[in-house]
Amino acid sequence: MAAGDKEGSGIYRRQFLRCGLTGTLTALAGLAVRPARAQDFPKATKEQASYQDRVDSQTCAQCTLFLPPDDCKVVQGPVSETGTCVYFTQ
Ligand code: SF4
Repeated sequence: MAAGDKEGSGIYRRQFLRCGLTGTLTALAGLAVRPARAQDFPKATKEQASYQDRVDSQTCAQCTLFLPPDDCKVVQGPVSETGTCVYFTQ
């Protein structure tokens, strides 16, 4: 084995390790910038959300945060299909 071969394999090994490290760091960076989701935060109490149990418009049943039959992604349940709160989202 010539000295050049040893040196050559060292270069390849360093390139391989560098690519692996770059890929790992890129994956970790991707995780770090993941947008926050509603389930990443503790749910608000009904009082904090100014929840009302019976309304005629903007009801939980129409809200994208509603989890049938009686749960919500951001407000502590149970909530009603006819309820609403300040976090109503359509
Ligand atoms: S209106 Fe409020 S309580 Fe009802 S589902 Fe939407 S966020 Fe939850």
